[in-house]
Formats: sequence, C-alpha cells, structure tokens
Amino acid sequence: MSQKQDIRALSVEEINGFLKEKGQSAFRAKQIWQWLWQKSTRSFDDMSNLSKDLRVLLAEHFVINAASIDDMQISGDRTIKCAMKLFDGNVVESVLIPTETRMTACISSQVGCSLTCKFCATGRLDRLRNLKADEIYDQVVLVNNLAKEKYNQHLSNIVYMGMGEPLLNYAETLKSVDRITSADGLGMSAQRITVSTAGIAKMIKKLGDDNVKFNLALSLHAANEEKRNYIMPINESNSLENLTDALNYFYDKTGTRVTFEYIAFKDFNDSIIDAKELAAFCKKVPAKVNIIEYNPIDEGEFKQTTSTRLTAFKEHLESKGIIVNVRRSRGKDIDAACGQLANKNRSVTKR
Ligand code: SF4
Repeated sequence: MSQKQDIRALSVEEINGFLKEKGQSAFRAKQIWQWLWQKSTRSFDDMSNLSKDLRVLLAEHFVINAASIDDMQISGDRTIKCAMKLFDGNVVESVLIPTETRMTACISSQVGCSLTCKFCATGRLDRLRNLKADEIYDQVVLVNNLAKEKYNQHLSNIVYMGMGEPLLNYAETLKSVDRITSADGLGMSAQRITVSTAGIAKMIKKLGDDNVKFNLALSLHAANEEKRNYIMPINESNSLENLTDALNYFYDKTGTRVTFEYIAFKDFNDSIIDAKELAAFCKKVPAKVNIIEYNPIDEGEFKQTTSTRLTAFKEHLESKGIIVNVRRSRGKDIDAACGQLANKNRSVTKR
C-alpha cells in the first residue's frame, strides 16, 4: 500500500495551497479538480491540459486510489451485481437495478456492517472500515458506466442501501452526495438520491440541521418496539419513540417526507395487527411506505410472506390513507436483492 496521500481526500482549496507552495499557478487546482471528479480520471498522466512537469510533481506527492470492478454477475431480470475492489484489497458490493422507468444504483457506505440486523446477510460480516467519499463516488461512476454500456442509459437514481449504515459514516456520506450532485462532479439532482438508515436518531437530527436535500428512508420493518428490538438490535438504543422525535425534527427542518422501508416476513410482521401498528406509526411522522418482498438468506430464520397476506397488509394501510408501494425483489438469483449483499465467496470476515 502506498504511503502517499490520496489527492481526492483534499479539497480544491487544499490542492490550491499545495500548488502555491510549489510555485504553480492557482488556476490549475480547478483543472485538477475537474479531472478528478467530473472526468473520474484514474491517472495523473491522463490530465492532458497539465504540463508534464506538473503531472510528475503530482505523481511524486499523491496517488489516486480508485476502486475498480473486480467481478460482475448479471441476473435473469437484468440486475447486475458488482464486486468493487478498493485500493487496500477490501471488497464491497454495488448493484445496478434497471426497471422500465428507472436505472438505479444501490451503493455501499461501509466494508461490512456493525449493526447485525437479523434478516440481513451483510449484518453477518464484521465492519472492517468506513468508505471514503471517493470510494462511494467511484461506485456510482462505475455503475453509471455499466448502465451506459449494457443498457444504453444513464443512472436516474442512487440509493445508499448497499453494505453498511451510511449515518455511521456521516461525513463521508455527505461528502459523496456533495460530489455526486455538484456541477463539477456528476451534476445529479439530490432529489434522485435516497440515503437509507437503520435508524440513528441523533444523526437523523443532524441531517435536519444540515438541511440536506436528498431523500431519507428508514428501514423500519416493525412498528412495535419488541419486534424491532428482536430483528434490529440498534432499536434498543434508538427506540421508535426516539426515532419519531428525530424524524419529525428532520421533517420540520427539511420539509422532506421520509420513506419507511418495510420488509414483509411471513408470520412475523405481516399480519393485520402489524399493519395497524404501522398505520398508527405513519400518523406520527409524515411518511410513505415501501413494502419490500423478502429474500431468504442462507440458514436465515425468516421466510417470504405470501401474496395474499401482502395484499391484505397493503390494503389495510391504503384504507388508512397511507401511500404504499410494493417493491418486488430484483436480482434474487445472484444474491443482489435487498438484504443479500454479503461478499459471497470473498474474504471478508464472517461472524
Ligand atoms: S440492514 Fe443495513 S444496517 Fe442492518 S445489518 Fe444490513 S447493512 Fe447493516
């Protein structure tokens, strides 16, 4: 591993400072910045509007630790799962989900995860480290390239729902959104980005204070403290009551209605009583609901609900005036579906 600093950890002002110190023109900082972010250049040699001397100087002091696609699997439903290799050999997974109306990238924010949600394959991996903003950004660029190459379309949406809890990697997550949305980055609209959290109340409030423009999704999965404690241990320290407070605070500050993600598990959270609890919770916070079809993971204790129960559950919510979407699973055959990202056959430590 190189000891040189990754130039993408620097701000444009810091690059400017470095150039000044070396007697270079300040306007080069902007050009370098564009190469790094707008054009995702992976080598100083390719920065063709810089002098040879400046390119050598940069290479002497910095590296560009770009991620790359190490492996790829294509599902029968056209979903593509990529293993993204990071500069230190760690691997995270990113997924391209094409539908009739959208081209969505599902990206990771940590190597592994510390939150041990019972239904999630990633939760069985140790959290090895947080991703840097550039590593999150690289996933978007690489998946976007794939969307253009395979389906002749650009990405339309980005969801931070891959491996890891983005709000436990707060600063780098926000920095990555900033790069994705800025004009000298990818220039995508923040409204096309959704950050999904398992529910870290303090950080949800911070999102409100930072007045973020992207969408927020809460992985709810049970609107009952006891059941949520059972499937998501994070609920023990971030109860539904705390989350209600935090989400209302977020809504007051940003005006953005949150989405509750709700995976329907057979005979666990898919009854009419569960639907009533969810409807009551939805009255406490301005929200809409995405019900997600479950994909059983190896040796997991949960099963997929039946379509009859799913329909009854959805209809109950709708009868209470709640906006509900049902998300069918994508990429099941390649373990790319929700809750299945686990670096299968790779060398990430398993609990
Ligand atoms: S659902 Fe999200 S927060 Fe929970 S273990 Fe999986 S990756 Fe981590």
